[in-house]
Amino acid sequence: MPTLALALACACSPWVDEAASAPIAQSEPPTSPERPVALPRSATPAVVGDPDASEREILAVGDRELGEDELLGLPGSQGLAVAIRGASTSPDGGHSIGTPQGGALVGGVQLPFDPAAYTRRDAGRSWATSQTVRTIAAAFSSLRRDRGVAAEVVIGDLSLPSGGAFGPHVSHRSGRDIDIRLVLAPGLDRTTLPLGAEQVDWDATWALVHSFLETGRVTHVFFDFARQEHLHRAALRAGVHPQVVDHWFQWPGGDGAAAVIRHEPGHRAHVHVRLDCEGQGPRCQGA
Ligand SMILES: [Zn+2]
Repeated sequence: MPTLALALACACSPWVDEAASAPIAQSEPPTSPERPVALPRSATPAVVGDPDASEREILAVGDRELGEDELLGLPGSQGLAVAIRGASTSPDGGHSIGTPQGGALVGGVQLPFDPAAYTRRDAGRSWATSQTVRTIAAAFSSLRRDRGVAAEVVIGDLSLPSGGAFGPHVSHRSGRDIDIRLVLAPGLDRTTLPLGAEQVDWDATWALVHSFLETGRVTHVFFDFARQEHLHRAALRAGVHPQVVDHWFQWPGGDGAAAVIRHEPGHRAHVHVRLDCEGQGPRCQGA
């Protein structure tokens, strides 16, 4: 597979995600998790055109997927329940090879329809490893049952069925990347792209991020540095010890050497959760 071999040899920055950051990443030397990175503000490339164009594209929300009861209440729906139940199991075997920026997904598993937990923005772009699907289920179980968050949460792109190149993303190629829109403040239309701080329910968004962090599988949460303050405050409000918060957040220090929650351009209205290589086998690479 020449494409994969080429990709595995790529010395791209492991932090790259959406297309907005591609030019700067490709001109930089490789960055290791152990090496301090530059201050995030200086890492932001010059803005050309609409800086939020990528997020508008990947987070545009259409009609809500209907629940089983709702579907069965519609004319001509007889028999649909069988198809829905058949899609609700998560098979083993889906695994990641290579890096998030250059790898692929083998035996991809589709994130199941589960409207009580989350909304899939596009089922055709919702494929991942078995481990990723299980981790999402665990995080949303915690969010809904333990933390009591009831608001709709929209999951954007995961990967394509076999992974690989997936524009406008630079990563999302190996089934270990999850885009999740920030939880909307109450009363907003569900299609809102939350680019304003007042449009976000920060406490619910922190509960969401915390639910993923506690799975132990998260290597990074990519999120715009300038917006991290809101999430940081919400973490403190939730009772997380300040030293723990400092360990997780790049904000306010800007030294992102060890922080899990770190800046990446193009991540203002959504967080990008990346999972580790646990259970993926020796060919899984990159954090
Ligand atoms: Zn992403």
